[in-house]
Amino acid sequence: MSSEFELIRRFFARPARSAVLGVGDDCALVAPEPGNVLAVTTDMLLAGRHFFPDADPEKLGHKALAVNLSDLAAMGARPCWALLAIALPEADDAWLAAFARGFFALADRHGVELVGGDTNRGPLAIAITAIGQVPQAQALRRDGARAGDDVWLSGATGEAALALAHLRGRARLEPRALEDCLARLHTPEPRVALGERLRGIASASIDVSDGLLADLGHIAESSAVGAEVSLELVPRTAALAACRDETLARACLLAGGDDYELAFTAPAGRRAELEALARELGLRLTRIGRIAAGNAGVRLLDAAGATVPAPAGWDHFR
Ligand code: ADP
Ligand code: MG
Repeated sequence: MSSEFELIRRFFARPARSAVLGVGDDCALVAPEPGNVLAVTTDMLLAGRHFFPDADPEKLGHKALAVNLSDLAAMGARPCWALLAIALPEADDAWLAAFARGFFALADRHGVELVGGDTNRGPLAIAITAIGQVPQAQALRRDGARAGDDVWLSGATGEAALALAHLRGRARLEPRALEDCLARLHTPEPRVALGERLRGIASASIDVSDGLLADLGHIAESSAVGAEVSLELVPRTAALAACRDETLARACLLAGGDDYELAFTAPAGRRAELEALARELGLRLTRIGRIAAGNAGVRLLDAAGATVPAPAGWDHFR
């Protein structure tokens, strides 16, 4: 068992790199490069609400940072710094070492420096603040979608929600599919490289954390446009394709959440560029619909262009 300051020193303090001043003073000091603005975001994970209290601490360290990096990616920002506020029921050294391992493995891959935080005793809760930078005029916002733009999705949605459905006894996954889906649930990969490359290409962007249709709804609302998503264009991984319960499959794909993919819009003239970018990054980018004129929200369409009811079952995953 470590004291508070020992704990910070042992597990979280590392020498400052790009920060002017890192862990150890009352504030960290950071400076963006000239012409850049800071992109700042925070996300909290609570035991019992966002993860099971006995969750693997290494994966938790990864996910707590990943969900924040996903927000930076959605804005086209390059991640730089993070702050970690954590409440722990006890100072369990093995737990902290594993948490720090998961956190720093992801942080190091993206050049993120932990510059401060707060440590308290209490029910397990983790709040991370991530700070990135982006040239001011190139930040990807939710309000730039225009009628006629394509709607794009990175990777594929649904696997995290399908894993949860399995854990709750509402689906039965084969071992291979279960492994894929659990990895998506516990160790999502924030689309950082994609976000940066979408600068100057995407007209609007958001990360999919609350469900594809709900998050596209935020773009539609902010941009005062409608979005039309074609059900048959929404990609399905092998695990989703193998799901016999179509109602569940659609709920996972379209309303499941916890996906940490990017949904974005771009003018039709950028298609070739985006297809080349997908090949370069080795990441699937799929055109799943288009932006329509009028403040009409999000419509789900079948192959014939008729409206399909948006999936129910959203509450199952809350
Ligand atoms: P203060 O009392 O001024 O808020 P603290 O005693 O809480 O400072 O923290 C001491 C230093 O350790 C500060 O620089 C703070 O940012 C840092 N720190 C505290 N907890 C963490 C943590 N979990 N991860 C990284 N840095 C932390
Ligand atoms: Mg403090």
